[in-house]
Amino acid sequence: MEGCLFCSIIEGKIPCEKVYEDEMVLAFKDINPEAPIHVLIIPKKHINSINDLEDKHENLIGHIYTVCKKIAAELGIAESGYRVVTNCGANAGQTVYHIHFHLLGGRNLNWPPG
Ligand code: 5GP
Ligand code: ZN
Repeated sequence: MEGCLFCSIIEGKIPCEKVYEDEMVLAFKDINPEAPIHVLIIPKKHINSINDLEDKHENLIGHIYTVCKKIAAELGIAESGYRVVTNCGANAGQTVYHIHFHLLGGRNLNWPPG
């Protein structure tokens, strides 16, 4: 989508530190990590947020979780533990309106989040 930061990353117009890629998703390191491991997993098709998900996206969203599992194993945090978070809307702190899944690990994560 024109003007979308994450679409620009997918198109290669803005560089990223790629962690994983397939036909459906791209995963890359967050530019401002909140934990020793902080990866963003995004669909290649633009979707604004959870509020815009439709039935046809169910396979994609399920796929993203299996990608999270693979990345966590590859980065060595499968056993120590990690968190997968999607912020939806202003009160959740969503700043980029291209749906994304934060994969956070490598330290003890507080709960509940702020
Ligand atoms: P949100 O606040 O929308 O849930 O998360 C957006 C995330 O995107 C933030 O953690 C922020 O650090 C990250 N981010 C913003 N701009 C860029 C960028 O240009 N490159 C990368 N790799 N991450 C970004
Ligand atoms: Zn986008």
